[in-house]
Amino acid sequence: MSKEILQSVKGMNDILPDEAELWLWFEAVVRDWLHAYGYRNIRMPLVEPTSLFKRAIGEVTDIVEKEMYSFEDSLNGDQLTLRPEGTASCVRAVLQHNLLYNAPQRLYYSGQMFRHERPQKGRYRQFHQVGVEALGFAGPDIDAEQIVMCARLWHKLGLRDVALQLNTLGDAASRQRHREKLVAYFQQHQDVLDADAQRRLHTNPLRILDSKNPAMQALIAAAPRLMDELDDEARVHFDSLQQMLREHGVSYEINPRLVRGLDYYNRTVFEWVTTRLGAQGTICAGGRYDGLVEQIGGKPAPAMGFAMGVERLLALLQDDGMLPPRPEVDVYVVHQGDDAGRLARQVAEQLRDDRLRVLLHCGGGSFKSQMKKADASGARVAAVIGDDEAAANEVSLKPMQGGEQVRVNVSSLVAAVNQIIKQE
Ligand code: ATP
Ligand code: MG
Repeated sequence: MSKEILQSVKGMNDILPDEAELWLWFEAVVRDWLHAYGYRNIRMPLVEPTSLFKRAIGEVTDIVEKEMYSFEDSLNGDQLTLRPEGTASCVRAVLQHNLLYNAPQRLYYSGQMFRHERPQKGRYRQFHQVGVEALGFAGPDIDAEQIVMCARLWHKLGLRDVALQLNTLGDAASRQRHREKLVAYFQQHQDVLDADAQRRLHTNPLRILDSKNPAMQALIAAAPRLMDELDDEARVHFDSLQQMLREHGVSYEINPRLVRGLDYYNRTVFEWVTTRLGAQGTICAGGRYDGLVEQIGGKPAPAMGFAMGVERLLALLQDDGMLPPRPEVDVYVVHQGDDAGRLARQVAEQLRDDRLRVLLHCGGGSFKSQMKKADASGARVAAVIGDDEAAANEVSLKPMQGGEQVRVNVSSLVAAVNQIIKQE
């Protein structure tokens, strides 16, 4: 009787070995890049109290309104949520452990995030972010550092066709002024607003600017601009940031409609966008969130961060024809007989001690079939051990790319293998 094979949860993907090679390569590049800028790793739980995200991200946001995987802990009734993003958890951890007590912190994390969205290319229910947060820095120098860092990473990865969009959201007072003008403006045009916008008119009018509804685009384009309400400090901050970006040769476009989907941002916001992933074109997004630390219970501290979507970045790389580097096998060890098996296991460890990558044949079979496996593995050398070799404490080495087979004593095995590999 055949049973149906169970499937993974919709929108939550397996990353199979061939693709995982690309992930490993990407993760190694990213780690080096982060360390070059002095960012340090922090790891938070995947599950947090639901109230953390409500408080940090904002009640009237897509994430909190409709995208969170929230559930009750059946053992104690706690309200919990699978993290939809990392900034809230990161700030919570920093405050809980008092990491800001005497110095600002440059931190990064990476891993799974969960959002209940309609799955499509570049949009999944479990996806991965690399998140970067600088806490305790007022900017604009750190804002520039983070944006320049991104540009440098795209260069390192060989990414093409990503453009920077930049905006400032100002500070509380100018946002309030702008908000009043926005509400008045949208009220005058109630008939054009869709249901979402109607609902947001009094809770979060700024988010109406973020709407993708084509019927509202003309109305949005002519809406009062926050840029016109900026106070001097925020304007100077934004001007200096732009000056630094120009000095670094980073080009950008100012997009006054860029408001970001989370409530905690102020001043600098930015997105790196590509035209090559359809509607899912944002590969990296972030900004300044000077109010968040206080909002979740800490002493006020300015901060700036961003997160990149790993699936979208890797899709771009694959689109560019980037092939994952396969892990190479140096030596495939074939063996037959009990004594040979013992020697094979010992020899394999000896080679690994010398940092060689070794596949030890498992599962028996004739020499011929084992050699076929050695060939298929892509190994550069086959180490062959039969009764003869075992009795003499020797190993036969066969270069897989052609060349003389040699027989060497176990004591000179490592040198002999390296010799063959070097000759290739
Ligand atoms: P979008 O407008 O595409 O929904 P967002 O503003 O909700 O993005 P952020 O919360 O800023 O996204 O997350 C940062 C990055 O994480 C995004 O720019 C994107 O690259 C990636 N990302 C967000 N949601 C998803 C998802 N559901 N699947 C895959 N990647 C995602
Ligand atoms: Mg979203």
